[in-house]
Amino acid sequence: MLAVENLVVHYGEAEAVRDISLEVGDGELVCLLGPNGAGKTTLLNTICGLLRPSSGMVNFSQENITGRHAAAIQRKGISQVPEGRKIFPTLTVEDNLRVGAYTVKDKARVGADLKKYTEMFPVLARRRNQKGGSLSGGEQQVVAIVRALMSRPKLILFDEPSLGLAPLFVKRVYEIIKDIHGEGTSILLVEQNARMALGVAARAYIMDAGEIVISGRAEDLSTSEDVKKAYLGE
Ligand code: ATP
Repeated sequence: MLAVENLVVHYGEAEAVRDISLEVGDGELVCLLGPNGAGKTTLLNTICGLLRPSSGMVNFSQENITGRHAAAIQRKGISQVPEGRKIFPTLTVEDNLRVGAYTVKDKARVGADLKKYTEMFPVLARRRNQKGGSLSGGEQQVVAIVRALMSRPKLILFDEPSLGLAPLFVKRVYEIIKDIHGEGTSILLVEQNARMALGVAARAYIMDAGEIVISGRAEDLSTSEDVKKAYLGE
């Protein structure tokens, strides 16, 4: 479904992503781990059209989408749940969710999805007319996830969904991620909480200093002594 080939991304002179290749299959849940500054967010932002690569290719559903605008890429079926949630603090919860459907022309479909998700997540019904900024971190993460779902994506890029959340909310967020995956949506999950991510993913990539240094089955990585020492802090 997603195939990144030899991607290179710069900020000015600085190379943040160096010759990265990775794949996410149809319906697959893949995680991307690595320390701070490894280039994970840069990679996600390039896949969804927020940054332009210096070279390399992003293919999605067998189409080259490299360098396309973010809206066009969202229309193709890729959504992002960004790091830090990026909820619009002065918009209501409902309007935050509608932002996720800005590329959808069929307004009846948007209304039906809003109804479905406010029934599925009672917090959205309770907070519907409240400003996004007044919600707790965990509640904002639910809004960020449903905002991403509003365009009915085939692939969701999650950027550190557990960051800064209380353990109970982390558990809830991971239940939601598993449910979304269970519905058939492909997922690329960036996490610092490596144990949590390896517990739900089928495959994993570890990124360090702009490069993929290890990849394999999540089960194999989570039992590898080298990976445990170098990247799981164990
Ligand atoms: P984190 O977990 O801290 O978010 P990350 O793996 O997502 O880390 P990136 O945020 O992609 O890493 O950063 C990769 C490198 O690019 C880092 O050296 C970072 O300082 C640099 N970088 C990130 N954003 C910018 C920017 N807007 N301008 C210049 N350099 C940047």
